[in-house]
Amino acid sequence: MSSGGVLSLVGIGPGDGAHATPAALEAIREAQVVVGYRTYVKLVRHLIEGKEVVQTGMTEEIGRARSAVERAKAGANVALISSGDAGVYGMAGLVFEVLRDMGWKRGDDPTLRLIPGITAANSCASRVGAPLVHDSCTISLSDLLTPWPVIAKRIDAAASADFVISLYNPASGRRTRQIVEAHSIIRRYREGTTPVALVKGAYREAEKVVMTDLDHFLDYEIGMLTTVIVGNSNTFLFEGYMVTPRGYTRKYTLEGDVLPGQMPGRSLVLQNQKEEL
Ligand code: SAH
Repeated sequence: MSSGGVLSLVGIGPGDGAHATPAALEAIREAQVVVGYRTYVKLVRHLIEGKEVVQTGMTEEIGRARSAVERAKAGANVALISSGDAGVYGMAGLVFEVLRDMGWKRGDDPTLRLIPGITAANSCASRVGAPLVHDSCTISLSDLLTPWPVIAKRIDAAASADFVISLYNPASGRRTRQIVEAHSIIRRYREGTTPVALVKGAYREAEKVVMTDLDHFLDYEIGMLTTVIVGNSNTFLFEGYMVTPRGYTRKYTLEGDVLPGQMPGRSLVLQNQKEEL
């Protein structure tokens, strides 16, 4: 027998109302129980008056996921909120692990709803220009659950393949070494003048944006609320904006003419091997 419980995994975006989707806000409004980190619950406090709120600290994720699942299974409409997107370094993965552990099947209670949100990479990118127009990846520098050698290997692979890199969880009060090591790995492959943006608390009250470069970004404050965006070999600065080109000018002039040897709609023709990267 279905008891009608619902568990919504809700991404609320970077932290202000305007950048949470209507679907996310509706899921929170409909919920009887709202579960999340204190900071995120605070960000949506205007929507949760009269609801039961389960606020927890940073290190209680498993308990929080389990209690959200159990409350929903027992028939409540529960919204589990994450900043950004719940499926990007958020609670969604852990919820699925808890459900698998319980033997949950599709069609069982609770009904699951996944509601996407604007992740930090996107919100931070919008604060600095258009840094993610070409291939990019996100890497979390938190080694609380992932061994550092695995993280270092991924940074190395991303840097060597010329991905734009958004570094999440770059540092905390106790974790300060990782960002320094990340810098030295990336510097093996990229010029010291490569644009780097530090965006702290995008769309929140204490937002701070710093435009700098690979050789200087460690001189600035980097913490738990910062996302570090490292450009690729083509990223440039223009009027204070950080821009990664898609590559149009390899094929066309900006007047729209096709360059010699190129064909619209066909693979780019390399003029010489040096152009590969
Ligand atoms: N689920 C979140 C990410 C959680 S991991 C999302 O999709 O955005 C936490 C990290 O996200 C922080 O350490 C920081 O690097 C980044 N982050 C989250 N919100 C941010 C914001 N408003 N501004 C800048 N970075 C943010």
